[in-house]
Amino acid sequence: GPVMSQTTPGTPTHCPYCALQCGMRLTAAGAGAGGRPVLTVTPRADVPANGGGLCQKGWTAAELLTAPDRLTTPLLREHRDAPLRPAGWDEALDFAAARIREIQAAHGTDAVAVFGGGGLTNEKAYLLGKFARVALRTGQIDYNGRFCMSSAAAASNRAFGLDRGLPFPVTDVARADAILLVGGNLAETMPPFVRHLAAMRQAGGRLIVVDPRRTPTAALADLHLQITPGTDLALALGLLHIAIAEGLVDTGYIERRTTGFAAVRTSVSAWWPERAERVTGVPASRMREAVRTLAAARNAMILTARGAEQHAKGTDTATAFINLALALGLPGRPGSGYGCVTGQGNGQGGREHGQKADQLPGYRRLDDPAARAHVARVWGVDPDDLPGPGRSAYELLEALGTPHGPKAMLLFGSNPVVSAPRAGLVADRIAALDLLVVTDLVLSETAALADVVLPATQWAEETGTLTNLEGRVLLRRRAAPPPPGVRGDLAVISGLARRLGQDPAAFPEDPRAVFDELRRASAGGIADYSGITYERIEAEGGVFWPCPSEDHPGTPRPFLDRFATPDGRARFVPVEHRAPAEDLDERYPVYLTTGRVLAQYQSGAQTRRVAALNEAAPEAYVEIHPDLAERLGIAAGERVRVTSRRGTAEGVARISTAIRSDTVFMPFHWAGEGRANLLTNPALDPTSRMPEFKVCAVRVERIPGA
Ligand code: SF4
Repeated sequence: GPVMSQTTPGTPTHCPYCALQCGMRLTAAGAGAGGRPVLTVTPRADVPANGGGLCQKGWTAAELLTAPDRLTTPLLREHRDAPLRPAGWDEALDFAAARIREIQAAHGTDAVAVFGGGGLTNEKAYLLGKFARVALRTGQIDYNGRFCMSSAAAASNRAFGLDRGLPFPVTDVARADAILLVGGNLAETMPPFVRHLAAMRQAGGRLIVVDPRRTPTAALADLHLQITPGTDLALALGLLHIAIAEGLVDTGYIERRTTGFAAVRTSVSAWWPERAERVTGVPASRMREAVRTLAAARNAMILTARGAEQHAKGTDTATAFINLALALGLPGRPGSGYGCVTGQGNGQGGREHGQKADQLPGYRRLDDPAARAHVARVWGVDPDDLPGPGRSAYELLEALGTPHGPKAMLLFGSNPVVSAPRAGLVADRIAALDLLVVTDLVLSETAALADVVLPATQWAEETGTLTNLEGRVLLRRRAAPPPPGVRGDLAVISGLARRLGQDPAAFPEDPRAVFDELRRASAGGIADYSGITYERIEAEGGVFWPCPSEDHPGTPRPFLDRFATPDGRARFVPVEHRAPAEDLDERYPVYLTTGRVLAQYQSGAQTRRVAALNEAAPEAYVEIHPDLAERLGIAAGERVRVTSRRGTAEGVARISTAIRSDTVFMPFHWAGEGRANLLTNPALDPTSRMPEFKVCAVRVERIPGA
C-alpha cells in the first residue's frame, strides 16, 4: 500500500461516520471560539476506499468538533425527579460507581447492563467488553451493531465460517463485470463507493439494484428490480431456480468448493419464476435478465445491505443470496464474491472484540470453552467467573426496568431513543431504570434521560483503530486537543473500573496499551489482530485481518484457497421464504420502509448539529407515490401522520414516483414526533436477533388543518 507522505501538511486520519472510513487530512486553520483550533478537511487520494473523494458528511465533519451544544462538564441527577446539574468528574464517577455497587448488591450482577456502539474504536469496544465481563461480571452487554449487519454476519459465519463484511478489497468492485446490489443505497449512504461502481460500468460491467424505491443508486443501475418490501428472500429463491433451470450454475465449483447443494436445489425447485413474480412483484423476465447477466459475467458480485438484512428473516435472506453466489461459483475468486456492505464506522471491528452479547475478542464465541479459557488467561481471571451470553440489543432494551430485567445501564456511543425499533416503548423502558449513565459528545435524546452524563472526546481528538467494511484495520489520529473538561471513553471505563476495585493496569486509558492487549486476546481467533501494530498501519496504510504475526502480510482475500469451515468448503444452507412479521390489512393498508438520506447519519445526534447538513435535510418526511397521495387526499408539503400498531410519527409529504404505490418511506434520523422508529416492528430474526426495521404495516393520513 501507499506510504503516507511526510511532507504533506496536516494529520492523516479517517472520517467519523460510515464504514467506508474515507481517508482525510485535518489541518489547523487558525483559532475559533474559546481559542480552540479550527480544522480544515481535505480528502486523501492515498486511501483506496475513497481515492480522493468524500461525501458532504465527510467534508463538514470538523464542524462537529465545535458543535455549540457540545458537553464540556459531567452532568448529574441525584434523584429521578431532579434536573441534571453540572458536576465534577470525580463526583460523577463516584456517584455512578456507588449506585452500581448498590444495585448489584441488591439485585445481582446482571442487574447492570452495558450498551455499546458500532462507532466506537476497536480499543473502546474491546475494553468495554472486558469491563462488562470482568469489572461488572454482567452478561448483559450488547450494542447497536445488532441493528446493523448482524443478519449478514450470521449468514456469512454459517456459510463461510467467517464474517468479514467484504472478504475482498473494495477496489475489487471495479474488476467485476456484473454486480447485484440488494437493499443498499450507496449513492446516499456512502457516495465515494459509487466511484468503484462507476469504474466497473465504464469497463462494460452491469449494475443490478434490488430496492422498493428508485433511489439515487437504483437510478444508476442498468436494471432495477423494484421489489415488494419484505420479499427479498423469495426473489433470491426465484433467481436460483432460474439459474438451475437454465443450466447456469457452476457445477465444477460446486463440486470442488462447497457442500450441501442438493438440498438447496430441492428447496428452490418449486420457486417458478411466475411464483416468485407473484410474491415479489418483480417481473419474471427481469429476474431472468438478472440471472443471465450474473452468469455471463467473468467476474460477478452479490452485495447485500440493510434493505435485505433488517428483517425478521434477515439471516435466511442473506443466506439465500449466498446460496445464489455459491451456485454461480463466485465466492473465493478474485474480482468476484459475496459481501455485506457494513454501515457504521466501526461496524466491522465493533463485532469482533467482545461488546456483543455472545462474543469474546477475536470474534470468538462466548459459549466455547477453549475461547473462554484463552481470553480468561489474557484477562487474568478464572474462566468460570466469565458470565455467559446475555440478551440481544432489542431484548435488552425491552427488559430494562422490568422485574427481571436490568435496573441500570451504562451506554456508550449510541442513541436508542431514536435508533431502536419501537422507540416509544424503548424510551419508556430506559426512563424506568434506577440508573442510566451515558457517555456522549452532546446531550442526545437518550442522554437527556440519564442520571449521569459524561462528556466524551471525539474522533479527531483521540487516537484509535477502526476496521472498515473491507476488514482493513485503520488508524484514526489525534489532530487537536479536546476542549477542557472532556475525557475519552477509555478514561471513563478506566475510571469506573478503578472505582469498582479493579487494578488500573488491567484497564488502561492509553489506546496503544489497550490495542496491544487486544492483539494478544485476538491471537488464534477468527479475527486475529496479533500481527497488526500502529506502526504497520501507518507504514502500510492499513492491514487486513486475519494477520497472525508481524511478518504476515495480512489477508485481503481470505477465501482464495479455502473457506474458514472445518473442511474448507462453503456450506449451502436451504432456507424458506416467509411473509413479513406484519402484513397489510384494512386498518394498516400500506407498507412502511425506512432508511437514510445523504446529509444525515444514523440517529442524527452528530449530523443534526452540523449547519450545512441540517439545512440540506432539516426534518422528517414521508415519501408517497402520487397515486397513493391522491387516494389519501395528500398534497406535497402537507404534514402527514403515519400510524402503526406501535405508535404514530409525523412528517412532511414528499410526493414521488420513486416509491411503489403500496409503500411509504421515512428516513429515521430525527427526534420527537418525526421519529420513524416509533413505528417500526421489533419482530426479531431467530438467529441474528435483528429487528424488522425494513417493513411494517401502517396507515397514512393528512393532519387536518396542518
Ligand atoms: Fe464519511 Fe462515509 Fe461520507 Fe466517506 S462516505 S465521507 S466515510 S460519511
